[in-house]
Amino acid sequence: MERKATERTLPAGHNPQPVHSAYGGRPTPAERERGVAALQEEIRALARERKAVILAHNYQVPAVQDVADVVGDSLGLSLEARRTDAERIVFCGVHFMAESAKVLNPDKRVFLPHIAAGCSLADSISPESLEDWMERYPGRAVVTYVNSSAEVKAMSDICCTSANAVSVVRSLATDKILFTPDRNLGRWIAQQVPEKDIVVYDGACPTHDVLRGANVRRTRETHPDAVLIAHPECREDVLAMADEICSTTAMVERVARYPDARTFLVATESGMLHQLRLRYPHQEFVLADGCIGCRLHCPYMKVTALEDVRRALLEEVHEITVPADVAEGARRALERMLAVPRD
Ligand code: SF4
Repeated sequence: MERKATERTLPAGHNPQPVHSAYGGRPTPAERERGVAALQEEIRALARERKAVILAHNYQVPAVQDVADVVGDSLGLSLEARRTDAERIVFCGVHFMAESAKVLNPDKRVFLPHIAAGCSLADSISPESLEDWMERYPGRAVVTYVNSSAEVKAMSDICCTSANAVSVVRSLATDKILFTPDRNLGRWIAQQVPEKDIVVYDGACPTHDVLRGANVRRTRETHPDAVLIAHPECREDVLAMADEICSTTAMVERVARYPDARTFLVATESGMLHQLRLRYPHQEFVLADGCIGCRLHCPYMKVTALEDVRRALLEEVHEITVPADVAEGARRALERMLAVPRD
């Protein structure tokens, strides 16, 4: 059947990148006035003066990634937060990440530049809902993805990220596991570790879960030789088509396995394209969605602008605190995870 273009579909071959400013990200009026480069210079000077390290997740807008001391995935940034000797950590990511940095560094001051930087996936599991699932499936080791609150982590046996999830599950002595909260990641892990009996919670990341295999197939029509790299938070039909399934930091390494490939379709949040293009300027990276309505755009990751980073340093907002008893339990689950190597 011939498909007609609608306002939510694009003509074949047309796959624009997300609509941001020329530099990437939507500049605030102050950024426009001062200029991105001047603002970045001021932020770096402030960070030096305040003995602060700036950490940025791969999904942040490019202007924020470029001002950071370290850019990476959740696992890489957790490790960096633990090893830094800076007095302050400005965490350009979402709340649960800054919270984990605080849990791992109780003596350091941790700041989240934008208070609205939450995470729907983390919000999908509350202590009460985890309690329900633990009652329904008693006697199972609880493995919790780091995209969760400190309270939920404190109730878990061990945490994992998408970079070490398979190794974490394999490392457990028990075969009976309750995996929370991401159902797509959980299903993928269960396929990788079939010898374990894994019950998977029913949360999902809306940014990844909205992507359908049909959209990816459509994008592939115009890039038939492209290599498809997908994050394991994507749905099963997308993962079934992927040449590589891995965390965001691993994506940077996996591209090197295809020196003859010209084009890569990337099935994860759009911010990832920035690091891939910096590392491989002669290869082409295209979002795998092929649909205007999707654009693989996390509203929480994109809420932080340079001006917010500057304000976090200048005005010391928004400082993250975690109650001592919660932090102790969450730290135990995170430290167990950090002892397991990447997949
Ligand atoms: Fe949460 Fe998904 Fe956004 Fe990551 S991309 S912060 S999991 S909503």
